[in-house]
Amino acid sequence: MQTNFENKVTETYERAFRRGELYFVESTIANITENDIEFEIRFAPSLAKKPTAEQTEESPLKNKVDPFAPYNQELFVQEFENHVILLNKFCVVPNHILVVTKEYEEQSNPLNQEDLANMWYCMMQTKSQSTIAFYNCGSLSGSSQPHKHMQVIPLPSNVRFSPPINAIIYKYQSKIPGEIFNFSELPYVHYVTLLDPQQLSGHHGHNYKETVSQYLTENYLSLVNTMAEGFRASYNFLMTHTWMMIVPRRSEKYGQISVNSLGFAGMLLVKSEEELEFVKNVGLLRVLEGVAVSKDKDQLIDNIHISV
Ligand code: AMP
Repeated sequence: MQTNFENKVTETYERAFRRGELYFVESTIANITENDIEFEIRFAPSLAKKPTAEQTEESPLKNKVDPFAPYNQELFVQEFENHVILLNKFCVVPNHILVVTKEYEEQSNPLNQEDLANMWYCMMQTKSQSTIAFYNCGSLSGSSQPHKHMQVIPLPSNVRFSPPINAIIYKYQSKIPGEIFNFSELPYVHYVTLLDPQQLSGHHGHNYKETVSQYLTENYLSLVNTMAEGFRASYNFLMTHTWMMIVPRRSEKYGQISVNSLGFAGMLLVKSEEELEFVKNVGLLRVLEGVAVSKDKDQLIDNIHISV
């Protein structure tokens, strides 16, 4: 049974697709396993033909056209006090949702309680599939639009670990919710915390949205505050129903490969055969390490030095 929200998302998606207002980008998936994680590389060759932000007329850098203000009415799903929910115009996964601020805000701003409340709302209202929410914060995070937008995508239900990074999260189930830790399997700096199912269950008081979003915000802020101050300008934030993760960034690309939050969930997007071969040759964890901050002590000290 789909919720009203899911029905609205699906109806809007199908109508926008039929009318040519939304493009579904075909892709194939290749898997590579490194450090016990079966990574998913999505190969979407037609994305290579899509003009990049720098080349297009709509470039926010060139003439400041903002695709989210005004937004395309055909992509509109629902509104809140401070946000609108839109469908992603160029999606690799159907029903890819954007939670966009109504008033222009910078994509480098930290998330606030209202942002997290509405990301969580989209996740909770999607009941027929699991979801992951993410925020590409800052200029090196892989975001393409400077107007603040959070994202939620449905995850496949026919694979064992979804998102792929869950293959190692299961090894850390004994961690106490709220405790901040990192995975020894990953070569780059990142911070993770498990979410307390009790706190998210809604069995504590009448104002579910307020109490849950407060809980999410406390956890998000403790992850942000754990990052060295110099790293808080560009990072990827990921949230599932059971955990949150934050990954500070030091570059947008490794070679030609642009990485955003989904890369750190174990889902990397590539746009050509060459890029696919490059990732296979170099190694996926090496690519992620290359755009994040290496755990390697010398590089860490180097980076803190540069960014403060
Ligand atoms: P990001 O690239 O992570 O900043 O996410 C922005 C997303 O907005 C991209 O995935 C684009 O496909 C999508 N997008 C670009 N233009 C529009 C538009 N006019 N309406 C809705 N989504 C858009």
